[in-house]
Amino acid sequence: MASPMISHKELERLANLRSDEGVLSVYLKIDPRLGYDRGQAVAKFKGGLSRFQRTADDDQLAVAEREKDRVLSFLEQGLPRGRSLAIFSSQPSDIWEVVPLDVMVPTSVSVDTTTSTSLLMQVLDEHPRFVVAVVQRDRAAIYTSQQRTADKEAEIESAVPGRHDQGGWAQARFQRHIEFHVERHLKKVVDEIEKLFYERPFNRLVVGGSEEAVNELIGMLPDPLSRRVVGTFPVDLKHQTEEEVLDQARQVLREEERRSEEDLIKQIVSSAESGGRGAAGIESTISAVSEGRVHVLAVADGVTTGGFACQRCDYLSAQEFGRCPVCGGDGEPIPDVIERAMEKAYSTGARVEIVFGEAREWLLARGGLGAVLRY
Ligand SMILES: [Zn+2]
Repeated sequence: MASPMISHKELERLANLRSDEGVLSVYLKIDPRLGYDRGQAVAKFKGGLSRFQRTADDDQLAVAEREKDRVLSFLEQGLPRGRSLAIFSSQPSDIWEVVPLDVMVPTSVSVDTTTSTSLLMQVLDEHPRFVVAVVQRDRAAIYTSQQRTADKEAEIESAVPGRHDQGGWAQARFQRHIEFHVERHLKKVVDEIEKLFYERPFNRLVVGGSEEAVNELIGMLPDPLSRRVVGTFPVDLKHQTEEEVLDQARQVLREEERRSEEDLIKQIVSSAESGGRGAAGIESTISAVSEGRVHVLAVADGVTTGGFACQRCDYLSAQEFGRCPVCGGDGEPIPDVIERAMEKAYSTGARVEIVFGEAREWLLARGGLGAVLRY
């Protein structure tokens, strides 16, 4: 089953769309329990729009007013499937993009001279494509998963003699016979994972199953794959459904994600404080973004702040400036400088990492923004 999901390439394309006439960005959370009825989406859009109108300036209001009927008439035709929906619209610049998503994002409406794609980055960051191998001594299944969906890539079944039907064999010899078959089975599983890896490389592999089979399989993985194992989990195939098993795998991945976020923030803070390749705090991180020096941008989930952008070269700052220090162009206020910094970092090839939990608290204590620098 093909799943609607967004690739890095597609996200880059969307993030680079811009219009001096203003772009309306709309995110709608869809509740599948309410069905895909038109009323739901229209009501959510109107709610998001009126929240936006309370804080927007006159220029932004005019853009929303210009684009809203187009969005409404689209929503009135019915909803695409999914848990949420992103829409970007700017009629003067011929921008019209509809992106269905398999994960929930909060409903929001915003206007800027670029598409607002930080929520999409968050979706990709929090739901990376990963591979799950579920192994038993005679059975295995391999899945790729992203967002809320998973595709079964391979199923392997091997005839392995059971431990109980010992026949007339001597115990030790029989045991070796079984081990030979188990090993041959696991080798087939390794081959399938390798095949998948060379077709469509992935960075994360989660292995579930009986403890014995999991350990043996991991021991057999060649180097580029063994370094991609992010965690393991026990599976009881008799009592667990496929969906429960995959949920467990996602949980393993989330925990690993939280751990690596904590490592990232520790690295950023210690290198920033020792004058190394790290920046912590809004102003120093944003100037590193503007200079193209950011390798990994770390953003505390939910942090936003207004700022200023150069109309000519897109130089960003959280502080007000009338004249751009880089090109002398005019500075203009922008609703969310963090969002713009994320997009800029992303389009210059940096990784954007949104951090949650403990890592988020540490980063918030330093302004909510930080980076690992290239130089
Ligand atoms: Zn400038």
